Amino acid sequence: MNPTLLSRNEFESKSFQRTNGQCIIPWCEKDAVDAHHIIERELWDNGGYYLQNAANVCSTHHYDAEEDYIPPQAFWDWHNVTPHTPSGYGIHIDKWGNNFNHPPNQFTQLDIGHLPFSSDWSGSENDFQELSRLTELPLILIPLESSTLEFKTIEQQTYLTDSSELPLAAYNHTYDVWLSWPETTGAMRQIQEVQYDEEYEFYTDLREHVAKLDHGNGVLIRAKYPFHHSQFLDRLALY
Ligand SMILES: [Zn+2]
Repeated sequence: MNPTLLSRNEFESKSFQRTNGQCIIPWCEKDAVDAHHIIERELWDNGGYYLQNAANVCSTHHYDAEEDYIPPQAFWDWHNVTPHTPSGYGIHIDKWGNNFNHPPNQFTQLDIGHLPFSSDWSGSENDFQELSRLTELPLILIPLESSTLEFKTIEQQTYLTDSSELPLAAYNHTYDVWLSWPETTGAMRQIQEVQYDEEYEFYTDLREHVAKLDHGNGVLIRAKYPFHHSQFLDRLALY
């Protein structure tokens, strides 16, 4: 069945009904104030007012969705809708229709870049030359228990872990996104009791904070929000 094109008012009211007016971000307790176009309205020849293209968001999360900090795939997953994209576009795109690389069939090790003030910074291809592609995002800082990172499948769920199996990111194979940090810790808790001393969310003073957290095995810095697999090297960094 083809999705139904809605009026602008229906788009908002029918969308809000789905979550009783709540913001769809799993850890947000605010009311939704906007029905966000998951894929930008200008890319549709009819405005894209489909329920499948609406995401209920509070003002903070609407801003971050417009800035493309939250990928369309995460909204499709959270709202549990079949993705609907403008004609000529697949599902591996950002809000503005730019293509994400097609995800791999199999994970190979990715060389996560180091922060410019990390002692392991070498200026190699993936290392961060400056911080601007990270610091506007809400970040989570995780002190590592071992410095070797790997992809691991535990009970059919793929994780990025350190060798002590500390989960750093969990993968959603349906949408090829790495889940948000709260969802990652939630997925891991279903398998085993996981204790975190603290979650870290900083926008500034990154250098000072990571240095303080480092127990000697480094610190992983990751986006709190979910990200598409092809954004992996832009959303994770090592200190
Ligand atoms: Zn919100």
